[in-house]
Amino acid sequence: MAKRDYYEVLSVSRTATDGEIKRAYRALAVKYHPDKNPEDHLAEEKFKECAEAYSVLSDPQKRAAYDRYGHAAASGAGGVDPGFSNIEDIFDMFGFGDMFGSRGGRRTTVQRGSDLRYDLEITLEESATGKDEKLRIPRLEQCGECGGSGAEKGTTAETCVSCKGAGQTRYQQGFFSVMRTCPNCQGRGQVIRTPCKECRGAGRVEKEKTLELKIPAGVETGSRLRVSGEGEAGPNGGPSGDLFVVIHVKEHKVFERQGANLYSATPITFAQAALGADIKVKTLDGEEDLKIPAGTQTGTVFRIKSQGMPALGGRGRGDLFVAVTLITPKSLTKEQRKLLEQLAEIEDTDFNSESFIEKVRNIFG
Ligand SMILES: [Zn+2]
Ligand SMILES: [Zn+2]
Repeated sequence: MAKRDYYEVLSVSRTATDGEIKRAYRALAVKYHPDKNPEDHLAEEKFKECAEAYSVLSDPQKRAAYDRYGHAAASGAGGVDPGFSNIEDIFDMFGFGDMFGSRGGRRTTVQRGSDLRYDLEITLEESATGKDEKLRIPRLEQCGECGGSGAEKGTTAETCVSCKGAGQTRYQQGFFSVMRTCPNCQGRGQVIRTPCKECRGAGRVEKEKTLELKIPAGVETGSRLRVSGEGEAGPNGGPSGDLFVVIHVKEHKVFERQGANLYSATPITFAQAALGADIKVKTLDGEEDLKIPAGTQTGTVFRIKSQGMPALGGRGRGDLFVAVTLITPKSLTKEQRKLLEQLAEIEDTDFNSESFIEKVRNIFG
């Protein structure tokens, strides 16, 4: 049988707008809808014919090709799909669902399990060196007794008679049929006559799993480590989700972290600042020598190379920045007081010198 012209099928002119084509198709689709014409083979053929015509004429590219080459455009040697895969999309567009049951028959009811999140607190030292951590994770695992099917050992789940295993049933709403979850099997597509005793038919049981996790050096607060397949088991024997371990690094008493660098502060005395000194400063690994040059001002920041944090997954370490703070003593021994008084006398004369006053004038003048 020769193919009818697509425009003729939809009873529209060759210059019809997209809207006109859509309206025409919709009216015909409703008219020849298999639900309204049960067991009517001719109506079903008409319906398919309209759908095919619409799949071509609603697509500007296909329509242009059809206008130039006719049906040859869609059935040439290249085997251009006449649009049958698209027909289902059209059904969806109009809310028809899968009326021919052409979507592979049994709807798959196997789902992937949920991803899990685990928040893990570690110290700054641990984030610097990395750590092997044992995690205890309560989660739903596949039932070992029934292998996740939910049916008692030796029995199997039966295909649901209401939906024939599809998990969904179709019901009529006005002109359109709407799919809804099958109430008989709750969308599983299967009914368990004898539920597994271990999981009561759920296919999953709650268990605490102990996992060894290698935390790499350099992680910081907010770092997410993904452990594939260690989330919850999927329902109905589906694959497991993933586990995400979210790192929180505790605040440190001495160091503050910014990226790969660490920041700290260390006190020095007036004499050390004025005369210079070799002091020891705390690092993550222990102590490090720091040379304070003579005449150092309070707040001066010194950099100690490669005493910061390791780069995550990379090489090298950040730096440690140490700010020195001049500490004024709160109490003095007799000797200290005597020496400081002597110093004060000299300082006085120094501060009263013309050059100093001149300097202050320059600053404010
Ligand atoms: Zn079970
Ligand atoms: Zn069902």
